[in-house]
Amino acid sequence: MTTEERIHQLREEINQHNYAYYHQDQPTVSDFEFDLLLKDLQRLEAEHPEFYDANSPSQRVGGMVTKNFATVPHEYRMYSLDNSYSIEDMEEWEKRIEKLLGEQVQFVCELKYDGASISILYENGELTQAVTRGDGVQGDEITNNIRTIKTIPLKLEGDYPAKFYMRGEITIPIQTFQQINAERKENGQELYANPRNFASGSLKLQDNTEVAKRGLQCFPYYFIGNQLPYTTQWEMLQSAHKLGFKVPDSSKLCNSLEEVLAFIAEWDVKRKDLPYETDGIVIKVNDFRQQEELGYTSKSPRWAIAYKFKAEAAETELLSIDYQVGRTGAITPVANLAAVSLAGTVVRRASVHNEDFIRKMDIRLGDMVYVEKGGEIIPKIVGVNLDVRQPDAQEIQFMQHCPACGSALVRKEGEAQHYCPNEKGCSPQIIGRLEHFVSRKAMDIESIGSETALLLHEAGLVNDVTDFYALKKEAILPLDRMAEKSAQNIIDSVEESKKQPFEKVLYAIGIRHVGETVSKKLVKHFQTIDRIMAATMEELISVDDIGEKIALSIKDYFRQEEHQAFIQRLRDYGLNFEMGEADKPTSTHLEGKTFLFTGSLTKFTRAEAQKMVEQNGGKNVSSISKNLNYLIAGEKAGSKLKKAEEIGTVVVLTEDEFLTMLTN
Ligand code: AMP
Ligand code: ZN
Repeated sequence: MTTEERIHQLREEINQHNYAYYHQDQPTVSDFEFDLLLKDLQRLEAEHPEFYDANSPSQRVGGMVTKNFATVPHEYRMYSLDNSYSIEDMEEWEKRIEKLLGEQVQFVCELKYDGASISILYENGELTQAVTRGDGVQGDEITNNIRTIKTIPLKLEGDYPAKFYMRGEITIPIQTFQQINAERKENGQELYANPRNFASGSLKLQDNTEVAKRGLQCFPYYFIGNQLPYTTQWEMLQSAHKLGFKVPDSSKLCNSLEEVLAFIAEWDVKRKDLPYETDGIVIKVNDFRQQEELGYTSKSPRWAIAYKFKAEAAETELLSIDYQVGRTGAITPVANLAAVSLAGTVVRRASVHNEDFIRKMDIRLGDMVYVEKGGEIIPKIVGVNLDVRQPDAQEIQFMQHCPACGSALVRKEGEAQHYCPNEKGCSPQIIGRLEHFVSRKAMDIESIGSETALLLHEAGLVNDVTDFYALKKEAILPLDRMAEKSAQNIIDSVEESKKQPFEKVLYAIGIRHVGETVSKKLVKHFQTIDRIMAATMEELISVDDIGEKIALSIKDYFRQEEHQAFIQRLRDYGLNFEMGEADKPTSTHLEGKTFLFTGSLTKFTRAEAQKMVEQNGGKNVSSISKNLNYLIAGEKAGSKLKKAEEIGTVVVLTEDEFLTMLTN
């Protein structure tokens, strides 16, 4: 077998395993075997860039960064749907269309998947472009991100139209949503409000390796193109399945409005057990000839309507507002409610986000408020029943002083959140920082959990995280529930933690807005704490995923002498403040130079090329500007090449010339 044949065979085999796993829920190999196959393929593809294929299953794991998503017009506009909320609305709609058509109508009922809509172009059976809905007329091109979603076929099976757009909804499993929100909460990051925001947020991530990890799914609901071979919606859904899409089997062909209403009633109950969110049912005229005849209003098709389920809401009294202090000093207001039953659980608290939210909603103490529960962990207040507001209902005076330490709260311009500035003396902040520092994703000091951290703090042994490294066994032993062995464990695991790599240390020290990902990116870019501390705003912002807010927070942090001394103490204890040798670049050949790749590359993949640049000390950028030094143009290079030539200072290289540059 030639290498090319082997590559094709591996791709085919991996595709089949993927299909069995994601479509049929019947894995045909173990994860381990699967990884071996994939590694094999990745290795061969790396050795033989001439067989590059953007739709190889190896592309599903990511490795691409898109800094700016291009705006792309939709060839066919992406419409909204008209909404209906009652049986009467539905009856009216049916009458209206039967009158317009003058004949009987069959309907297809589908769930209304709650996520972000997508339009994916397939040409000759290959996925070639994916664009978000945007404003319906144009959207953002997010092809690289979409390729990582496992239930979206990169190549179609069977009998496919030569060119068409698949319209579908990208959703997130509720469980994944809750899990990721819980992690974000732990990291002091802002939570996603609902699975819909999560889905659209995920689609716009710059690094598609992150997208690949988010468990997104795609549910197709429409094909559009020139002279497609389908005559009905139902036939099209069936064939979507045959082409390799994951089509939910909840959809139903209905012969009458009665059947439609029965479907709605059935799913109003059953939807609560689905692993993803739905907010209604979409009812479509089945026959494409009839669809065409009915046409569109300026906003939505006349041949379809959404029936919206009533969100699960309850009305209850707002008793008071509590203010919680996080480890970074961020203040979160939480409403205390008179207990009320909602979607099967008793609710006593609801999120009210920040002061602006309270003002905007005009929530007052003693008000009867509506609380709703979507996929969120904590329910939210969605409105106030003004009819029953008491004339003396008091406006909420947002807390001016920290509930824990009494310091005056501050609110920075442009930020919605209040902060307690008393970093050193505010106990929830102190304890929060200790807990964060020892946590698994940070220094991973296993023998010190939250409880032990608190115990050590209350005993006066640990006030800031540097104190962990000064702990003596004799001092720990007399504490409650401590024995020789547990005390020794603490000493040992604190010692062991000195081996944690720099990126974990940087995350552990808990700079506001520096989560796991940002910390990794900083380390990769700057390599040492000294360089990070010396970085200008501009240099910080030039790093992927780092915007002004994060950059400001980093500058702010290191500007303070206290923090500089704090870092020095940790350094003296032997923690890692430099990138490990293994991760460091192999040469400084390309130092200070910037690179961008365009067109279709034949000698290596884009990811490989970018890695080569990094390993030789160069930097990848994502768009053409005066700051770009080299543009490597593959075949069919288009607008970027033109733009580079216009700028004049950009050196354009062929792939071979780039490779030569690396070795000379
Ligand atoms: P809306 O955003 O409320 O106007 O509803 C229209 C959106 O519903 C479309 O843009 C789709 O993204 C989404 N949608 C979800 N499920 C379906 C479905 N089965 N058929 C059509 N649209 C759907
Ligand atoms: Zn405080």
